[in-house]
Amino acid sequence: MSSYEALALEFCWTVAAVKRLVDVYGMRRARAIISALRSPGRWHFLRVNTLKASREEVLSELREEGLNAEPYDELPDAIRIPVQGPYKVEVRGRKPVYVDKAAAEAVYMGADLYAPGVLRAEGVKAGDEVVILSPKGHVVAAGVAVMDGEEMEARGRGLAVKVTESVYKVPSVRSLDLYERGLIYDQSLPSILSVHVLSPKPGWRVLDMCAAPGGKATHAAQLMRNDGEVVAVDRSPRRLERLRENVARLGTSIVKPVLADSRYLDLMGFGDFDAVILDPPCSAMGVRPKLYYERGEGDFKSLSNYQRQFLRVAAKVVRPGGLVLYTTCTLTLEENEVNIAWAVEKLDLRLVKQRYLLGSRGFKVGGVEASCVQRFEPDVHDAPGFFIALLKRPKA
Ligand code: SAM
Repeated sequence: MSSYEALALEFCWTVAAVKRLVDVYGMRRARAIISALRSPGRWHFLRVNTLKASREEVLSELREEGLNAEPYDELPDAIRIPVQGPYKVEVRGRKPVYVDKAAAEAVYMGADLYAPGVLRAEGVKAGDEVVILSPKGHVVAAGVAVMDGEEMEARGRGLAVKVTESVYKVPSVRSLDLYERGLIYDQSLPSILSVHVLSPKPGWRVLDMCAAPGGKATHAAQLMRNDGEVVAVDRSPRRLERLRENVARLGTSIVKPVLADSRYLDLMGFGDFDAVILDPPCSAMGVRPKLYYERGEGDFKSLSNYQRQFLRVAAKVVRPGGLVLYTTCTLTLEENEVNIAWAVEKLDLRLVKQRYLLGSRGFKVGGVEASCVQRFEPDVHDAPGFFIALLKRPKA
């Protein structure tokens, strides 16, 4: 067995994914990154909606709620709250409930379990003490069944297990009144940083090509002081509905939701934007916590091609002299530096130096200067894996 295969087997990753990391980071760091991705990190980040409240006001409300929140000094609108854990979850005497990967990763951080996430719950009766396991057998949480196993397995609606113990505990800010009032948005540190890297100004016309659920689009509107326009396109009706809810909650009224396939926006008459935000679907290798990872060779190739289709349109719909912010939550070269090198070479976009640098420099690929792009590496930055590039269309 090769060392790639041994690492892949140990962490339940695909060999192709492990190879991607080893090729750029070497074996020791690849292991450290994969291992770091198992945990959610030490901090949970929030963005303050400065259209509605100051950071100090939000901090004092969070503290009144008993949360140990602190300002994150590197960015003016970021707050962080410590994540608790890891804790050992007792298995003995509890009936097993197997859940899908998404549900396992949510309850691992303390969320309750809902019926659509359940795969198997044989012999479980409402009121039983249960242990919750991922499809690969990771113990993620324990709790009390709220419905019978048969009803859980029907995967209808409703609370299936009230979670009482979990490996990690992330504060559930979404149940807070200040969340309902639109004072905060749950967002990772690199994602908050990326919109500061763009720094959209009041009066700008901004296009977000892959906008839902609206983290970056609403942040752009916030930095623009709700003056100008943010056209927020997504092709998923369900996700666009979540964007609409977030826009209403946050009061970012300049965000205009549009249901469309962004690969054809140039043909639909869109153009002349001061800035374009492009946060396309990616292989999500950097998303934490990650119990295992199943994306393989074909995914990396097809996603990289898909991302290029958006880049091609971004280069057309941004005005000459305008900016394109490109971000992903993944660590593969082909979805990051290789795509940016392609955009520089084939689309005549130019890389721009980033004014906020909190990650590491990227990798030199083709015409891409390593210091012009930034990467967040989970073993170093206590953040999800993330990539940020800022490009400019040259003036005509
Ligand atoms: N930027 C968002 C934020 O900060 O909240 C997250 C975007 S998520 C990484 C990628 C989004 O791209 C998904 O909502 C997905 O529905 C959307 N998407 C995928 N293919 C698309 C397409 N062809 N046109 C428009 N949106 C697309």
